[in-house]
Amino acid sequence: MTCEEVIAHLSSYLDHEMDAALAAEMQEHIAQCRNCRVVLDTTQRLIVLLHDEGRHIIPMGERSALFDRLQQAFLNRPPASDSNTTV
Ligand SMILES: [Zn+2]
Repeated sequence: MTCEEVIAHLSSYLDHEMDAALAAEMQEHIAQCRNCRVVLDTTQRLIVLLHDEGRHIIPMGERSALFDRLQQAFLNRPPASDSNTTV
């Protein structure tokens, strides 16, 4: 699985709406990929924050805007020094 796939599936993963096999693949990638761990961590924290504000359901529009921003930030990140893979 690539970083892009992980980011694309992040929403379903966090909602536990994901195929167990796919979730296992994601966990495997995240365990080895610092970038994806940071993105996952940040997203989880944001969701918890939104929950704490009493907004138990994040509106879909807001959610996709959030994931859009994360995806953009992720794709525009400077290349990782420890990786030679082309994205
Ligand atoms: Zn990754």
